[in-house]
Amino acid sequence: MLKRRIFLIPVFVITTLTFTYCTGKPELSRTEFALGTVCSVTLYDKGNPAIYRDIFSRLREIENYMSVNLPDTDVARINAAAGVAPVQVHDDVFKVIQKALYFAEISGGAFDPTVGPLVSLWGIGSENPRVPSQAEIDAALSLINWRDVELDKEQRSVFLRRPGMALDLGAIAKGYAADEAAVIIRKAGLKQAIIDLGGNILVYGEKKDKSPWRVSVQDPLEDRGRSLGVITGPEATMVTSGVYERFFEADGQQYHHIFSPFNGYPADTGLLSVTIISKNSIDADALSTAVFVLGYEKGRALIEPLEGTEAVFVFNDQSVRKTEGANLKINNNSYILIPD
Ligand code: AMP
Ligand code: MG
Repeated sequence: MLKRRIFLIPVFVITTLTFTYCTGKPELSRTEFALGTVCSVTLYDKGNPAIYRDIFSRLREIENYMSVNLPDTDVARINAAAGVAPVQVHDDVFKVIQKALYFAEISGGAFDPTVGPLVSLWGIGSENPRVPSQAEIDAALSLINWRDVELDKEQRSVFLRRPGMALDLGAIAKGYAADEAAVIIRKAGLKQAIIDLGGNILVYGEKKDKSPWRVSVQDPLEDRGRSLGVITGPEATMVTSGVYERFFEADGQQYHHIFSPFNGYPADTGLLSVTIISKNSIDADALSTAVFVLGYEKGRALIEPLEGTEAVFVFNDQSVRKTEGANLKINNNSYILIPD
């Protein structure tokens, strides 16, 4: 499926920092495990412990509402009641599911928050990942359809129409969480910050010396921290979906964690990673997954009309393409930028 390369990261690594910073020494930052990944927040102007506390407790709150890996979250309750009854959820969950359905629609179902049965079946990132049989994949596929999610705005409830259906917000929740962390930073009146939720990066405000932010794009074939290039620009969010984030190997093949809802296999569109640059992290998160599944041509057609949204596409043969407004400089000889 993928060209075999030497991955030095362990097979079950769940947390990968897909970007490194080139912003100089942080004055102060805090790193904690949340949302199933390593989360780092850097507050350049005021490293006030109360603000860090607020941010990390907000991240945990979002995880406690949306995770499928914790018992009793809103999403776990929606899944348990699939085919039976609507479930009332917190505002955050309702908003994220609404957004997820929007991105499912505009991506023609490439992004699909009802991908849960496939995620459980393959178990990628769990202790027992495996390649399922075709019959199992077909059974899971029959349960996947974002159109079978019913939202009731007044009740703030969510209903999955068929038993066995399951939501998985893993491709969008971290983006929402990064945006919510930025809300806290804005309310606190801070001027510069970096939020990194396992590779979901949000650079906030303006650097003191007014120079642009510089964010490295992970080399998808190398150890984390090794970059293929640097994106420069003003306040923005950069989110990457890549084959290296979560995968396992069987019979000499690598199987990663981003599924095609069309055939039930890890999406194989010739891409190693897609980075989306935009204003909102929730959009960038959903779009990076959607574009990865759609592949270069359809993916690019999806994002070109979206204002303030840019992309970097890294292909299996280590060529790189980008949209016009993506300010990327390659700094790694193994990669080559193909001009439009
Ligand atoms: P990301 O790393 O943001 O691309 O999200 C990948 C995660 O989203 C996976 O670990 C799954 O939990 C979930 N997922 C996988 N495939 C899809 C898909 N086609 N649409 C929506 N969510 C997906
Ligand atoms: Mg995503």
